[in-house]
Amino acid sequence: MNLEKRFNELTEKLYGKNIGGCTDAQLYHCILQLTKEEMADKPRISGSKKVYYISMEFLIGKLLSNNLINLNLYEEMEQILKKYGKKLSSIEEVEPEPSLGNGGLGRLAACFLDSIATLGLPGDGIGLNYHYGLFKQVFRNKLQQAEKNDWIQKDSWLNKTDTSFTVSFGNRKVVSVLYDIDVAGYDNGCNKLHLFDVSSVDESLVKEGIDFDKTAIEKNLTLFLYPDDSDEAGNLLRIYQEYFMVSNGAQLIVKELKERGCDLHRMNEYAVIQINDTHPTLVIPELIRILTWDEGFTIEDAVQVVSKTCAYTNHTILAEALETWPLSYIERVVPQLVPIIKELSARVAKKYTDPKVQIIDQDKKVHMAHIDIHYGFSVNGVAAIHTDILKETELNHFYKLYPEKFNNKTNGITFRRWLLSCNRELAEFLTETIGDGYKKDAALLERLLTRADDTAVLDAIDSIKQRKKAALVTYLREKEGIAVDPDSIFDIQIKRLHEYKRQQMNALYIIHKYLEIKRGKKPVRPVTFIFGAKAAPAYIIAQDIIHLLLVLSDIVNHDPQVSPYMKVVMVENYNVSYAEKLIPACDISEQISLASKEASGTGNMKFMLNGAVTLGTSDGANVEIHDLVGDDNIYIFGEDSDTVIAHYAKGDYVSGDYYKKSPVIREAVDFIVGPQALKAGSKENLERLYHELLNKDWFMTLLDLEDYIKVKDQAFADYENRAAWKKKMLVNIAKAGFFSSDRTIAEYNRDIWKLK
Ligand SMILES: *Cc1c(COP(=O)(O)O)cnc(C)c1O
Repeated sequence: MNLEKRFNELTEKLYGKNIGGCTDAQLYHCILQLTKEEMADKPRISGSKKVYYISMEFLIGKLLSNNLINLNLYEEMEQILKKYGKKLSSIEEVEPEPSLGNGGLGRLAACFLDSIATLGLPGDGIGLNYHYGLFKQVFRNKLQQAEKNDWIQKDSWLNKTDTSFTVSFGNRKVVSVLYDIDVAGYDNGCNKLHLFDVSSVDESLVKEGIDFDKTAIEKNLTLFLYPDDSDEAGNLLRIYQEYFMVSNGAQLIVKELKERGCDLHRMNEYAVIQINDTHPTLVIPELIRILTWDEGFTIEDAVQVVSKTCAYTNHTILAEALETWPLSYIERVVPQLVPIIKELSARVAKKYTDPKVQIIDQDKKVHMAHIDIHYGFSVNGVAAIHTDILKETELNHFYKLYPEKFNNKTNGITFRRWLLSCNRELAEFLTETIGDGYKKDAALLERLLTRADDTAVLDAIDSIKQRKKAALVTYLREKEGIAVDPDSIFDIQIKRLHEYKRQQMNALYIIHKYLEIKRGKKPVRPVTFIFGAKAAPAYIIAQDIIHLLLVLSDIVNHDPQVSPYMKVVMVENYNVSYAEKLIPACDISEQISLASKEASGTGNMKFMLNGAVTLGTSDGANVEIHDLVGDDNIYIFGEDSDTVIAHYAKGDYVSGDYYKKSPVIREAVDFIVGPQALKAGSKENLERLYHELLNKDWFMTLLDLEDYIKVKDQAFADYENRAAWKKKMLVNIAKAGFFSSDRTIAEYNRDIWKLK
């Protein structure tokens, strides 16, 4: 039956009105239902071998428009709605965004699921169904407050299944319930995202903000992603969550293999498990436990086959992010795994004496990554420079033992969301100009290079940028109550708040620029500095940096001498939906992490694809962007990773020396505790940040500040050569094809998964 007819029948049935008589919220619920029916009719992708992508996070974003695009129904739906005077873009606003991830790592998992299905590979995601997700950020008194994100509605993309498992925590048993979300490939069949939940979860435990009683795990286990882990109860809950996820995942995998009649002794021929960072590591001992306890395997056979089935992706070299759990914690949460972990550790100790590669160390701490590396067949980093650092420095001891396991898979992003959906104007223009082959083969974007000197093409790209900027101006006025000049340069830094990402360095630049304007040095063109970032609730200095940004926004935007020339905007509750509005409107993409610290970054790729020019350090995938676009189409500054790593090794970086040496640095840093800032902000937060920068500055902000100021000013000056800038935009778009997650997934499949 045709879509319009079905749509009207549904609105009549549910609301007694035709499409034209319904509210956007009512229409959303109808389109949700119709889209789910369409997906249910799609063939399930199958094959002899299947990948299971296990991840604590899937930052999927809103799904309505992406599903319509992948089902090739978007335009038809838009047309139907238009007939009745309705707009799909306003209906999309009704959908709540699930916050099932923190940032890049979770967003990567979501992009991967899209590409796995798009390439027609059999592969499901396995994760948890957090009722309140991460948290919703609100600003009060220029400070971040965390509130629960109540995203699950009666009708949603979740489909309750009758799959259920029992998970034992020692003698305590918790029963799971599985919810599935269909993942439609672009012009292909469907896979699934499996999200496990606790059948006895109790939402009423959450009283104020995001606080709740952490003891009753059968009631609280799936309330939040990353509960505050600053205390023991929070840490234990984290292990409960990890084990709950992997035990359900392992039981599901074994069940599916048996249903397909596979010989579990040859499990690796039918299944591959990709472990997304160390959080799902316990799947290795859990599978070994199931095979030996329930399936009659010898420990030797179980270890062998599991090691051939599991592959590990490393996402960071930050020491504090590599999980190590006290063995006593694991003993309290999952005592049944302890003998297995001890056995795995003993096998390593017998073979290798080097203390750096042990699983259980002398302090009785379990190194999760070490389990993955010894008992998995592949270890990959997420950008070329990151994998090199793993091999040469951080994991060098392991690289020497297992050189064949190490490989690089540079991250990618799905172009369906980050181009076709968030920037339809640009996608349509590209289709007119170079054909629509790029939608399936992103490398074809390079065809745009043949038009690099065609002024009509350059002007069109620029005018799309202007339209996206105008749309963002409207949105910011409504949402944040801030008036922004659409002709200003949009300089954007959006990502999780972390000292290594150095939002504080951008803040110091803003102070510098503010003081210059006060002294009469007016910029040729106004600049709008836009930030978006959530900070982990227990991360004190990150809260202080948010405070500084909000203080600066207050000072700058309310200073009549300065505000015509610059504005500072810190958007509230940065998430995927916000990213989709900000990225197409960006001129300069801030990717300014301390070299060696950002494993890859994926925000940098989204910006490039949408015609922004990167201002960044030689870090993560910036290095590969630089190689692709060349010196003329990117702004690189700061010390390189070798220099930074050498500073750490020698311990010779002293931020106070940079402060003393440079009047420019001194003036900007002192402003943080100057009278203006103290009047607008809180003494406690500002003084703490000031002392941190002067006395510690672990991520070397002051090391790169002067070069950053110089290169950023150059970028702003170059923006005035409009013809040359438009060409930079074009080259960035044309060269972005490499960063399609379709390419990344094809490489995972070629080198690691080997699905038919
Ligand atoms: C892409 C994305 C990220 C990752 O950004 P980075 O700049 O790579 O850290 C984080 N959050 C959201 C909402 C994203 O869409």
